[in-house]
Amino acid sequence: MTSKLRVVIAGGGTAGWMCAAAFARRLDRDRYDITLIESADIGTVGVGEATLPHIKTFNDMLGIDEARFMRNCKATFKLGIEFVDWGRKGNRYIHPFGTFGEAWRGLGFHHYWTRARRLNQHPAPLNEYSYAVMAAQQGRFEFPNEDQKSIRSTYAYAYHFDAGLYGEFLREWATARGVKRIEGRIDHVTQTATGDIATLTLASGAIISGDLFVDCSGFRALLLDGALNSPWENWTHWLPCDRALAMPVTRSGDLASATRSTAQAAGWTWRIPLQHRTGTGYVFSSSHITETEAHDTLNTNAQGLADPRLLRFRAGRRPKAWTGNCVGIGLASGFLEPLESTSIYLIQVGALSLAELIPTTPGPTDPRLAAEFNRRSDIEYERIRDFLILHYHANGRTGEAFWDDVRHMAIPDSLAHKIELFRRRGHIPAYKDGLFSPDSWLSVLAGQDILPGNYDRLADALDPDQTARLMADLRERIAGQVAAMPAHGDFVSYFAEAREEMPA
Ligand SMILES: Cc1cc2nc3c(=O)[nH]c(=O)nc-3n(C[C@H](O)[C@H](O)[C@H](O)COP(=O)(O)OP(=O)(O)OC[C@H]3O[C@@H](n4cnc5c(N)ncnc54)[C@H](O)[C@@H]3O)c2cc1C
Repeated sequence: MTSKLRVVIAGGGTAGWMCAAAFARRLDRDRYDITLIESADIGTVGVGEATLPHIKTFNDMLGIDEARFMRNCKATFKLGIEFVDWGRKGNRYIHPFGTFGEAWRGLGFHHYWTRARRLNQHPAPLNEYSYAVMAAQQGRFEFPNEDQKSIRSTYAYAYHFDAGLYGEFLREWATARGVKRIEGRIDHVTQTATGDIATLTLASGAIISGDLFVDCSGFRALLLDGALNSPWENWTHWLPCDRALAMPVTRSGDLASATRSTAQAAGWTWRIPLQHRTGTGYVFSSSHITETEAHDTLNTNAQGLADPRLLRFRAGRRPKAWTGNCVGIGLASGFLEPLESTSIYLIQVGALSLAELIPTTPGPTDPRLAAEFNRRSDIEYERIRDFLILHYHANGRTGEAFWDDVRHMAIPDSLAHKIELFRRRGHIPAYKDGLFSPDSWLSVLAGQDILPGNYDRLADALDPDQTARLMADLRERIAGQVAAMPAHGDFVSYFAEAREEMPA
């Protein structure tokens, strides 16, 4: 019988424990031995409260009970992100986890909407044709309907949660399923003659050897950067925010069902509603304002539960996140910035991709596996990068140094192509792989005042007056059904309030 492949995960933040849980679920335990090393002395980055709908698929894959997860992680539901003052001051729009309108005859709704505008039929704002936007605007929530014919099936949802509690929750889940946990600080990394990682030495003197190492050590990137010197691709010229001040505040008012992101002089502030507190923070560019100025912006109107904490980062990623026998997942492999909450999603796809491509036997790693992992990772990072840059670039906030700079910066060709396609024909490319659907792109493009000059001629197959009636009917159905939804706060109390923990 061949010996087990020893997988060693360095780091126990969200990335480490999501990897451990995914491997415990997906890998045959007779063939893989999984160990995670973490250090309470070092701790985790301690931020990362907003997620995307994919996290539900991840939890479902693990077989986690949703109400129990929500109670443990003090989670609330999230229908999208509200952007305030982004395109211009006074502007407000929602990027929903849902569609705009219905795709009549297989054609995107916004083409009919654009034609209606061109024919001076004065359609309502695009938002009013999106169930998720209307529900989020009114702070309502209920589970989507599974009947695909229902307008209530046109959205998905994610969570806001306490990331530290999620890590603890997954730790309990994974260790109960055979993942070995070692508490200790990694002080030293040894390599083989071929450059692979051989062992990790802990402060206690213990030596941990393995066949495959997963670097989940956060911004430190102990293995990828420290030992392997894996190159870093810098994207700060496109995403110049490089600092964040994070501060939890007392929960107040009704529980919103969307994250709020408000543009500020040199970046943006976030507001994330959890059951027990509200997460707030200011993501800013240190080339444009000082930390003191950022403090002043954050402290206005806030009842802090703790002092603001400064985090430093830089936008970019490691193109060879899998190098030799080491795979970086989480902040060790890259970070764009917190806008659109994509990091935990990237951890999820990285962990699942690794579980799929993981070598089957100890010994030299097939370089094709690494190449395939890195190829998938490229697609994910580059698609997200373009989407984030769009938020900054498409602004009309003239006269503010930060916003003038990002409006005038040269953008990637791939993004320029997407913007032009949309401007000219309302066309939004749909890709099989990678994050953000055409509806997501539509929400930000239209939300930040980029509107199509024309529409797809396929729309002309449907009579304009008939279309106007269909649109009016759709809008009425959405308004009526959203008005009957429970308030988000009531739904959370009923479904999952963080009471004393109940048995699993
Ligand atoms: C300001 C900000 C806001 C963010 N908001 C969001 C968000 O809303 N949504 C989202 O999806 N993501 C967000 N992120 C990203 C998110 O925080 C991370 O993707 C997530 O927390 C995963 O982090 P990690 O596990 O890679 O690193 P960490 O949480 O830093 O974990 C690193 C682990 O490695 C261990 N470690 C490090 N060195 C050693 C050593 N020498 N020995 C032993 N152990 C060691 C640490 O103890 C820790 O356990 C945000 C990030 C920032 C900076």
